[in-house]
Amino acid sequence: RGFFTRVKRGIYATTALSLGAFGYYAYEANNPPDQLPQDPKLKTIVVLGSGWAATSMLQNIDTRNYNVIVISPADYFLFTPLLPSVTVGTINGRSIAQPTRQTVRFGAREVQCLEAEATHVDVKAKTVTFEDKSEIHGSLGTVTIPFDYLVYSVGTAPQTFGIDGVRKHGCFLKELRDAEKIRNRLMDCVESACITGQPQSEVDRLLHTVVVGGGPTGVEFAAELRDFVVEDLSKWYPEIANRVKVTLVEGLPSILPMFSKKLVEYTEHEFSQQEISVLTKHMLKDVDETHVTVQKPDGTMDKMPYGLFVMAAGNGQREITRDLMAQLPESQKNRRGLEVDDHMRLKGMEETIFALGDCTATPYAATAQSASQQGKWLGKRFNQMARIDDLNEAVALAQKEGRWDEVPTYQKMLKKAEKLKPFHYSHAGALAYIGGDKAIADLPFMNGEVSIGGVATFVAWRGVYFSKLFSLRNRVQVGADWLHVKVFGRCVTRE
Ligand code: FAD
Repeated sequence: RGFFTRVKRGIYATTALSLGAFGYYAYEANNPPDQLPQDPKLKTIVVLGSGWAATSMLQNIDTRNYNVIVISPADYFLFTPLLPSVTVGTINGRSIAQPTRQTVRFGAREVQCLEAEATHVDVKAKTVTFEDKSEIHGSLGTVTIPFDYLVYSVGTAPQTFGIDGVRKHGCFLKELRDAEKIRNRLMDCVESACITGQPQSEVDRLLHTVVVGGGPTGVEFAAELRDFVVEDLSKWYPEIANRVKVTLVEGLPSILPMFSKKLVEYTEHEFSQQEISVLTKHMLKDVDETHVTVQKPDGTMDKMPYGLFVMAAGNGQREITRDLMAQLPESQKNRRGLEVDDHMRLKGMEETIFALGDCTATPYAATAQSASQQGKWLGKRFNQMARIDDLNEAVALAQKEGRWDEVPTYQKMLKKAEKLKPFHYSHAGALAYIGGDKAIADLPFMNGEVSIGGVATFVAWRGVYFSKLFSLRNRVQVGADWLHVKVFGRCVTRE
């Protein structure tokens, strides 16, 4: 009896402590402290973007040392690894978005957040021009501001291969609004297919989703869509659910080229079980309102009718990045992206511009992992640069005031601070969801890699991303979304 009483007390105490900690963190997250105002005597850092690289930089910089201005058309950070789940309603879009204002509100000094799109960086004048291109905006038009340092992290634009029909008729999967557009179109196709009296060929067209791009984004979207069909549409739309078809098109000889051969074969096998058709070595040639044309390996064309077309075939550079490269023709010659040195300094503008994330041409894969590591490194580097400035001032002041015994100490500290280590990428592995509560993972182990896949990997996949979500609010919301889907299923309405 004494043992059970002790266990019961232990449970009560743990529950009370957990609730107390939760309450404390929730209170802290919703009650930001007072901040210092911006100081005209400090240097100004302009940050372009609010994605993985920029947000990680903002989390690590000590804003006591700088005035920081963030310019981004998105007023939030988006946790992209869970974006495919938003397309079918496994997760609500807002659950994986974190307002940038909330991120910077906990630093020592106020940070200006401007919801606007940078349109031009003038490298000679050291200015950025931006414009509020949202639906509702004031009368300002374009605005130009100067910077001492620029953090350039605008990411990339979705690839279209120069095919006009892609943008006109297709959906991308990059931003929150893309995922919401896919969800709406998908349900529109389903509802239209349910209207009786139309030819069967039209019903099949409406229920055919073509995904171009066999990388993790295309694979995860196809997997989520299949889950939606099996777990939800089959219950609420039994008359059409078994006619929903998903085709994944990839130009390379295999899907998921960044994963080990074993996991690629495992995924292809799982997809064949889930009735997702995988067409490798097929090249996208054209898209019109109702058909996607692909070139088969033998050179002939295949015209596939579709209801929903999703383009997830990689990224290209944004207009503003191409414009920036054109201003530095001697140093920026890589068509893959911006060339930086091992301190993430833009070649040709090493003193003032740092470029991070997907918009750069580094040896590392364009992933959230590398972008966030670069951002963290740069935030700390800015702190170190501020310390160097402080120590230089301290040396000069000590010399001026004749405190000669202090000078060697400051100089020693300065020498230590000036040893700025270059950025080093540390690979934590690759993960992808492949549907049916299964995931795959290539993880670094000793000096090699271990490849795993299945339901246990899915549990680990969820656990990793849950722990990596930006805030307590995001974790609570995503946890609640997952629970909601388990209990009530996904919502099948459209906006
Ligand atoms: P982004 O995060 O794209 O941020 C760019 C920012 O710049 C955005 O805030 C944008 O609004 C802003 N911007 C755009 N134009 C302008 C402008 N003109 N002026 C100012 N700001 C501008 N990576 C992984 O490691 N693991 C995964 O599981 C994974 N899954 C993914 C799933 C999906 C669906 C997608 C789309 C990507 C996924 N990635 C994943 C890749 C990862 O999201 C990117 O590598 C990462 O976002 C790159 O970070 P970034 O900061 O360079 O760019």
